[in-house]
Amino acid sequence: MNHFNYRRGALHAEDVPLAAIADAVGTPTYVYSAATLTRHFQVVTEAFSAYSRPHLICYSVKANSTLAVLRLFAEQGSGFDIVSGGELARVRQAGGDVAKAVFAGVGKTPEEMEQALDAGILMFNVESAEELEVLDAVGRRLKRRAPFALRVNPDVDARTHRYIATGLKTSKFGVPFEEAVALYARARKMKGLKAVGLDCHIGSQLTQASPMRAALSKVAGLYSELREQGHPLEYLDIGGGLGITYADETPPSPQEYASTVLKAVEGTGATLILEPGRVLVGNAGVLLTRVLYRKQTPTKQFVVVDVGMNDLIRPALYEAHHALQPVVKRRGKAVEVDVVGPVCESSDVLARARPLVLPGQGELYAVMSAGAYGMSMASNYNSRARPAEVMVNGEAWRVVREREKPEDLWRGERA
Ligand SMILES: *Cc1c(COP(=O)(O)O)cnc(C)c1O
Repeated sequence: MNHFNYRRGALHAEDVPLAAIADAVGTPTYVYSAATLTRHFQVVTEAFSAYSRPHLICYSVKANSTLAVLRLFAEQGSGFDIVSGGELARVRQAGGDVAKAVFAGVGKTPEEMEQALDAGILMFNVESAEELEVLDAVGRRLKRRAPFALRVNPDVDARTHRYIATGLKTSKFGVPFEEAVALYARARKMKGLKAVGLDCHIGSQLTQASPMRAALSKVAGLYSELREQGHPLEYLDIGGGLGITYADETPPSPQEYASTVLKAVEGTGATLILEPGRVLVGNAGVLLTRVLYRKQTPTKQFVVVDVGMNDLIRPALYEAHHALQPVVKRRGKAVEVDVVGPVCESSDVLARARPLVLPGQGELYAVMSAGAYGMSMASNYNSRARPAEVMVNGEAWRVVREREKPEDLWRGERA
């Protein structure tokens, strides 16, 4: 559920007409709904309240790392799932609690480990044997035992786009499931480490329960086995990945997801850690764009808009679908158009063969479901300034990130 709805033909974010924001701030602009963000967090929280043990939501920062979004989740009591020193800095800047943050990623540097350990991170999700040794050295240098979980790769097919599947044997993520027991045994002898959990994350935009069920039953079994071997594990981190509806997908609801998870983990006695990203923010954001030109070629009708692949890379990178909604509802016969951006790449296509009532120049569209992996993946390619971001809360709204200015494009450079 989200709070982007038409009222008398005008698309609103909560109580604010999107046209008013576009007129005041310009386009492209990301617009987030605070009520939607809060609601999504609360729905997931409530779904997992059925668990007999505590659970902690660690919002996956990479989905949308904007300070105002992080602050909102921090105020809801969220923890954070980070994958870099930069994300750690963002969480701290937003007032997030590092003691409720977990640190994943296959390429953590010793410096990043040191910063996170020093800041009091809840645990490191370690992704290789060599990383374990480096983390041990960092722990010993700081005269601490670095709390860690091994991220295991359960070798299940998440049945999602191959760029966002992470749970197959061939993936760079996690350690092979079969090697986990030996690695925990080795780590037990290392003075700079303390095993506190077990972790997995099989991929993103998961729309089916069966791969989750398969992965969780393997991982829950391993958790119990490690406990029996005397490893003092407390946390079972099941990652994120729950999908959302972009077009006609029907992912499990948070309640169905929770019931699948809880069935698998109920026997472990673990404190459950969840790392949702997309499901919290995806449908809580839209990207406003204006039509620049219509262009009819012998074979195609193009609509050129002012959102490029540098602003929203998902269609170009993952062939992702985003619904396009006119900001002011229009009547007419739909024609098939390719909606393209201004970037000089043939892959800069926002929507291919999309039926749209041919818009006029200057008309506004909302690119729907753009809250996740939108702004956090934006770049300055073609020396394009990154979009502004706006947070709506009821009738109020404010700019939470200014549109970049030309001088932001060369900050730190010397000619
Ligand atoms: C990206 C990522 C997530 C979040 O994935 P979503 O699909 O956005 O829920 C969670 N955990 C890890 C380790 C990730 O890399």
